Amino acid sequence: MSEENTKQKTAVVTGAGRGIGKAIAEALARDGMQVYCVSKSESSCGSAAQSICESGGNAHSLPVDVSSGEQIRTACEKLLTENECIDVLVNNAGITHDNLLFRMEEDDWNNVLNTNLSSCFHWIKSLGRPMTRKRWGRIVNVSSVVGISGNAGQANYSAAKAGMIGLTKSLAREFAARSVTVNAVAPGFIETDMTSGLDERVKEVALSQIPLKRFGQVEDIAEMTSFLCSEKASYVTGQVFTVDGGMVM
Ligand code: NAP
Repeated sequence: MSEENTKQKTAVVTGAGRGIGKAIAEALARDGMQVYCVSKSESSCGSAAQSICESGGNAHSLPVDVSSGEQIRTACEKLLTENECIDVLVNNAGITHDNLLFRMEEDDWNNVLNTNLSSCFHWIKSLGRPMTRKRWGRIVNVSSVVGISGNAGQANYSAAKAGMIGLTKSLAREFAARSVTVNAVAPGFIETDMTSGLDERVKEVALSQIPLKRFGQVEDIAEMTSFLCSEKASYVTGQVFTVDGGMVM
């Protein structure tokens, strides 16, 4: 095994304070990586990093509002001062501001696009170059099945998630020669804070469209992401993996 394969990897996971991102950070820490947990609130990423450390992992908290390119650039300068390179980047932070298009405010459009999509551009632009120089890297963008299928009432969110897929495929081509892989995971309906507030009727309709007849758990997404970030996935790039109980085929 080469020296690069045995060295401890460093990962940045955005939206790691809760839900899917927290489960991904825990999985990567279990895989032996040093993990930076990013979230908007200091207490959220702080408690996620603390619980990883208490379980024997190596984690740090990094509060960043990912809707701000400036905050991301400042965070990346700090990361690249403390580390020669970030090996693994998981762009998971995301929000919804749902409404039918004619009722959607411009702010709802801009906030969702900035937080879900433009954030990926800023993180990858800052952290991608050292990865390509080092000729090893893993980037996973957490999109959504609605980025593939669309969804009434989610034009902003679906556009952002579809944009993440285009970004993933383009950068997979740009970075492939440097052994940096770029993939997307598209979760279906996963039980987190994001979905807990949905109307019971909406949940019933969603469940009726899932062949496996259950909602997904955060671990379902974390397992797929862990694989894509591993050495085992070195021949996989530019792909979108739906983890949705068969909802979108
Ligand atoms: P969640 O429970 O609402 O957690 C979202 C995380 O993102 C939180 O840690 C939050 O930080 C962070 N975040 C939000 N805005 C941020 C900002 N401006 N700056 C930094 N961090 C920010 O969401 P989730 O359900 O785990 O979803 C995670 C990802 O999966 C999202 O991209 C979502 O679109 C995608 N997804 C989810 C589902 C689902 O069914 N749950 C389905 C498809 C795709 P704080 O903790 O500080 O608030």
